[in-house]
Amino acid sequence: MTTDTTDLKAHIRGIPDFPKPGILFYDISTLLRHGPAWRAAMAQMADTIRPHKPDLLAGIESRGFLVAAPLALELGLGFIMLRKPRKLPGLTIGLNYALEYGTDRIEMQADAVQKGQRVILLDDLLATGGTMAAGISLLRQAGAVVPCAAALIELTFLGGRSRLDVPFESLVAYD
Ligand code: AMP
Repeated sequence: MTTDTTDLKAHIRGIPDFPKPGILFYDISTLLRHGPAWRAAMAQMADTIRPHKPDLLAGIESRGFLVAAPLALELGLGFIMLRKPRKLPGLTIGLNYALEYGTDRIEMQADAVQKGQRVILLDDLLATGGTMAAGISLLRQAGAVVPCAAALIELTFLGGRSRLDVPFESLVAYD
């Protein structure tokens, strides 16, 4: 099952001034609530990333988990979490990065990836690209090869993909 761009956009709503004035927040809750549309979006994303031959999928907390985990099941792959600070047990590695609104840090378990494994990084949305770029750096620090990164939504006017040194895939774009 696939969906076209128009269908997917119909299930994503823009909420003005969230989480602060001037930000148009693209809310995927409405997509998640709609079983067939959610399933179609995941099927389309699976077709998009499969050619990059991943060994593992990684998701960025928290909405990236909602993309990466179902895709990992769909593709029969393992899933690893890039999380906010102090959430993961055991030995972790981390990176600080600038966000569209504020600053943040992501961490992952130091033993999550075996050297040379191909890990595709997923999130719900690419804005400035800071989060995705940090995630790619962190995965490489852990020994991963990152063949591509992907998000459901891309805000093209922010030029985020130019900050990434891997191919980037998205299902819908807003400009
Ligand atoms: P960035 O690092 O600027 O690419 O921001 C991407 C991260 O922030 C993703 O994890 C998104 O979930 C979140 N984000 C940034 N801007 C928005 C937006 N306008 N609507 C929804 N989520 C956003």
